[in-house]
Amino acid sequence: MTAMYSDRALVIGAGFAGLLAARVLSESYGDVVLVERDQLATDTGYRTGVPQAHHPHALLARGAEVLDALFPRLGTELKAAGAIQADLGSDFMSRAPAGWAPRDPIGLTVHSMTRVTLERIIRRRVLKLPNVSLVDGVTIDGLLHDRGTITGVHGRRDDTAFTDYADLVVDASGRASKLVSWLAELGVHCPAPMIVNGHLAYTSRLYHVNHDLKLDWKTAYEITHAPTTKRGGAVSSVDGGLWFVTLFGADGEVAPTDEDGFISYATTLECQDIAEVIKTATPASQIYRAANLRSRWNRFHKVPDWPRGLLALGDSVVSLNPVYGHGLTLAALNCAELRELLKDHDLAQEPLVFQRAVARTAQIPWMSATTTDLGWSEKKVSPSTRFLQWYARRLFAVIPGNPQVYRSFLRVSQMVDHPAALFRPAVLWRVLSGSRPRAKER
Ligand SMILES: Cc1cc2nc3c(=O)[nH]c(=O)nc-3n(C[C@H](O)[C@H](O)[C@H](O)COP(=O)(O)OP(=O)(O)OC[C@H]3O[C@@H](n4cnc5c(N)ncnc54)[C@H](O)[C@@H]3O)c2cc1C
Repeated sequence: MTAMYSDRALVIGAGFAGLLAARVLSESYGDVVLVERDQLATDTGYRTGVPQAHHPHALLARGAEVLDALFPRLGTELKAAGAIQADLGSDFMSRAPAGWAPRDPIGLTVHSMTRVTLERIIRRRVLKLPNVSLVDGVTIDGLLHDRGTITGVHGRRDDTAFTDYADLVVDASGRASKLVSWLAELGVHCPAPMIVNGHLAYTSRLYHVNHDLKLDWKTAYEITHAPTTKRGGAVSSVDGGLWFVTLFGADGEVAPTDEDGFISYATTLECQDIAEVIKTATPASQIYRAANLRSRWNRFHKVPDWPRGLLALGDSVVSLNPVYGHGLTLAALNCAELRELLKDHDLAQEPLVFQRAVARTAQIPWMSATTTDLGWSEKKVSPSTRFLQWYARRLFAVIPGNPQVYRSFLRVSQMVDHPAALFRPAVLWRVLSGSRPRAKER
């Protein structure tokens, strides 16, 4: 049973984390208001506040589990909206540096859809809650405070000033959050963020694929691997009968945004299926680029004078190199934690209890997203990172033809299992012995 705390909670940003936070807060606060910079009331599609929606958004199996707990039957609703259900083994064709991964069924099913569809469905569910409302078209510029307690926000709608008050303010304004400077204006200083930059870029386009191709997979991909593989790409079936193609570049490599350059970059990949699909497909969008996709962690849990009445979650705290698809799942886990903690804590009074929980949850995804990226850097890394990089290289080398190792790897990368599962004797032995029991397969 969740406790009721105070009257009003205000969430800055109605993106993915903001919507989930509002859903959770609606159980403990009489009135929850989402304040969003973009106009959403009539918007059902792409918007400037979420530019990453022009790129594919994989929802990890663990993230889907957490979402289903917050929104019962969400999976069914996503399916009805056209999301593609895919087994991570048999429906995926995955190219590792040493060859093709096995295609045995794994028993982990993921939903594949555009970010726009996922967000639209969740927004619809959240705004149906009787005590949640949305104020859109308002940009928040700072926080209101009174003797160490945040009491509200100020901002603007066009040229008109906007002010609102709340017992709890939650920053969910994403990767470009200005929270660190808002706090500095109040005399609260945060430690410098941790940043790891693998200089990753995404270049993406939606297509209608030629049905004559009779593809026997739903996603084909090849990811970048430090220090050898700077180029990668993915093609996946999403809702609306569309296919998302993305070309990755790491360590400063960037796919072109012109038609010919895009195709010729795809032809340089080991996974030729991406180029083959593009050649006969009909474009359904422009080509979009997102560059300099670094990982950044604001260590709010280490701010001793963090004000009462303020929480932060989602990308505002930790934003990751997206190639491993952690962001949505991490935001969902933050909100699951928020729900759990609200049962016993008035988090407006004890905000650091929540920020510490956010930090604990971020540790594993941070480690997996940054360990590889540190491999692009010339800088000396810690012995533990060096060991993990070495182990990951060996693990990737045995994946082709080794279903047991691949299955364990997928379960860990989908955040279903703890990374310790990759060191269980059955996996460890195969990784260390370089065991390759099955021949090359596709
Ligand atoms: C290219 C790319 C690809 C990605 N692919 C994946 C993937 O495959 N899988 C995955 O899990 N994650 C992926 N991510 C990460 C994912 O997009 C984020 O982790 C997720 O959106 C975080 O949610 P959020 O609510 O914190 O931020 P957002 O979803 O970005 O939402 C922030 C919201 O705040 C609003 N806002 C911002 N400033 C203000 C302000 N001052 N006032 C009012 N409103 C404001 C914005 O308009 C927006 O609506 C990807 C990211 C990128 C960049």
